Amino acid sequence: MSGRGGYHVVGGGIVGASIAYHLGRRTDEAVHVYEKGELASETTRKSLAFFGFYGDETQYRMKRYGMEMYNDFLASPRADPGYITTGLLSVSTTAEGARALREEVTEREDRLAEADRTNVDTSPVDFVAPEELERSAVLPFLDTDVVTGSVFRPQVGYLRPREMALEFVERARDEGVVFHDHTAVTDLTVEDGVLSGLSVDGEWRPADDVISAAGPWNPRIAAMAGVDLPVKHTLAPVLELEPSEPIPYTLPWITHRESGFSIRRNVDGRVLMTNHPPGGHEDATEYDPDTIDDSFPPDLRRRGLEVLESLLPTVETFDVVDERVGVRSSTPDKNPVVGWTHVDGFSVAAFSTSGIQLAPATGKVLASQLIDDDPSEFYEGLSISRFESYEDHR
Ligand SMILES: Cc1cc2nc3c(=O)[nH]c(=O)nc-3n(C[C@H](O)[C@H](O)[C@H](O)COP(=O)(O)OP(=O)(O)OC[C@H]3O[C@@H](n4cnc5c(N)ncnc54)[C@H](O)[C@@H]3O)c2cc1C
Repeated sequence: MSGRGGYHVVGGGIVGASIAYHLGRRTDEAVHVYEKGELASETTRKSLAFFGFYGDETQYRMKRYGMEMYNDFLASPRADPGYITTGLLSVSTTAEGARALREEVTEREDRLAEADRTNVDTSPVDFVAPEELERSAVLPFLDTDVVTGSVFRPQVGYLRPREMALEFVERARDEGVVFHDHTAVTDLTVEDGVLSGLSVDGEWRPADDVISAAGPWNPRIAAMAGVDLPVKHTLAPVLELEPSEPIPYTLPWITHRESGFSIRRNVDGRVLMTNHPPGGHEDATEYDPDTIDDSFPPDLRRRGLEVLESLLPTVETFDVVDERVGVRSSTPDKNPVVGWTHVDGFSVAAFSTSGIQLAPATGKVLASQLIDDDPSEFYEGLSISRFESYEDHR
């Protein structure tokens, strides 16, 4: 529980804003958020911001809380979240990929048959053979001849991530939270395993509760407190494309299994393309997010456009109108690292993917730990203590 110094959140993305809101509405103590740039202008702004119930039981239950909160945002006249249901279509273009997709669906059905159905995603997920595709979803431009198999999840959609984050900011301000933009946390002070202060733009102030919600900068902030986070990075480049012929329909979010490219059609008719590198946490690396510029790597761009043109061949060209590169964080089990660390007074909220969907529940977990001293129902799935490597480093 916080004493003299109030609560200090590092990072004004969607996660920091949600934490600040959840703390603000539960406490009379001061809550400060420090953001080194503009609010919600980094990973959150670059996100494709899909919402779907895939993930393990921890993620599923967290997303249910998130959906409930976002429904409240959607009903608010102030927020402008622009939610669109698209569905998610994962396509394969090899025989092996099609087999793997079919197996994933069968394994999910087997798991569901044995699971407590109240705590797992039971939304429809179907394997769709190529000859069935045109009967299953609105796909007028997809070349079904190159597709060998696919999986369709109809209950997936996307929203506007920056607007959602800024709604958290407004709600937090209503609760008295103070946001300091263009203000960087430059150091943390820890004495005998207890956090005692932080430096803000080089100026020290006492603090007994600091929460790092610094997106891909989290490992750096955690290191200031002597905490080694099990977080690595992958690049998340986004190309914004104008098709030569308008695509006047809401397409599903199409992901291509073999290449890791995926596309989303925006409401303005533009197509966003991103890449998720194949491989797991062991293939991820560590980037300095400050040195990543916004140019989509040329080789990847060429390959992405080839994939796009093979899947949607009737659209003759796609002109690049914008590009940006985000940094995705990666954890060994794809779940975020949220909550207390071994440093008394230092907590983290570090995401693998899915931060837009899990931000609401993350705020709830941190408020429960920091205000009620209650580890929360999600402790085992989220705590840094679940990693053996953490035990080695503490
Ligand atoms: C291309 C792409 C697609 C994605 N698609 C999805 C999706 O479909 N669905 C989904 O749920 N998630 C998706 N994600 C992931 C999701 O966007 C992130 O998990 C989420 O935005 C993380 O939010 P954050 O607040 O933790 O990080 P950020 O938004 O990066 O916020 C962290 C903030 O901390 C600030 N900061 C850093 N260091 C300091 C410091 N020393 N002092 C003060 N401030 C500091 C930074 O300036 C930054 O604004 C996607 C991400 C990308 C890049």
